[in-house]
Amino acid sequence: MKQCSWCNNDFRPAVTYQIYCSAKCRDAATKEKIVARYSVAKRQKRKNKIRKCEGGCGITLSIYNDDSLCNACKINNKDVFKVLKKIKGIVRDSKNN
Ligand SMILES: [Zn+2]
Ligand SMILES: [Zn+2]
Repeated sequence: MKQCSWCNNDFRPAVTYQIYCSAKCRDAATKEKIVARYSVAKRQKRKNKIRKCEGGCGITLSIYNDDSLCNACKINNKDVFKVLKKIKGIVRDSKNN
């Protein structure tokens, strides 16, 4: 008897190298392997390409960061946007006067 590498059930292998009890387990394990490989490849791709924060701070972004801005710039950008909005409002007001 052997233990399935996926579900841990005991099974009688038809061939010595069989490590899964059924095709279902084999498929599930294969799918997981593909997903794992895909996410590793995605990260590896980022590793080779150094991404700099687009906020102009010069910080190299983490490979786990899906954004084009570092956390600090993300917060700063919000403030900048708010200030810009305010300035626009002031300009508009002065024009009306
Ligand atoms: Zn199994
Ligand atoms: Zn930044």
